[in-house]
Amino acid sequence: MAKILIVDDSRTSRKILREILEDAGHTIIGEAVDGEDGYIKYQELKPDVVTLDITMPKLDGIEALQLIRKFDENAKAIMITAAGQKDKMVRAVKYGAAEFITKPYEASDVLKVIDQVMA
Ligand SMILES: [Mg+2]
Repeated sequence: MAKILIVDDSRTSRKILREILEDAGHTIIGEAVDGEDGYIKYQELKPDVVTLDITMPKLDGIEALQLIRKFDENAKAIMITAAGQKDKMVRAVKYGAAEFITKPYEASDVLKVIDQVMA
């Protein structure tokens, strides 16, 4: 089971993702409310996996990804995307994103992606 940091500016989105992951036995070791907070908490908590929403204030998910991967070149980051973010997905791949999850969340997809990243 994975220790996961959730980074998303939407409280509802964090809550839904937390429930899906905890129900499957994963541990949420922290939540962050924007990209800057996510970068700080990643350094503090050193999660197995970090989920990064793409659209966030202060630093967006792509900017947070770049900083996190500079801090930890092996960081496993899953980008949380919405429809119509293809350009940003391409950039995220370039900066080392491990996988993608599309909102709205489908529990089976979320858990499959976590397993793939942890494998
Ligand atoms: Mg957002």
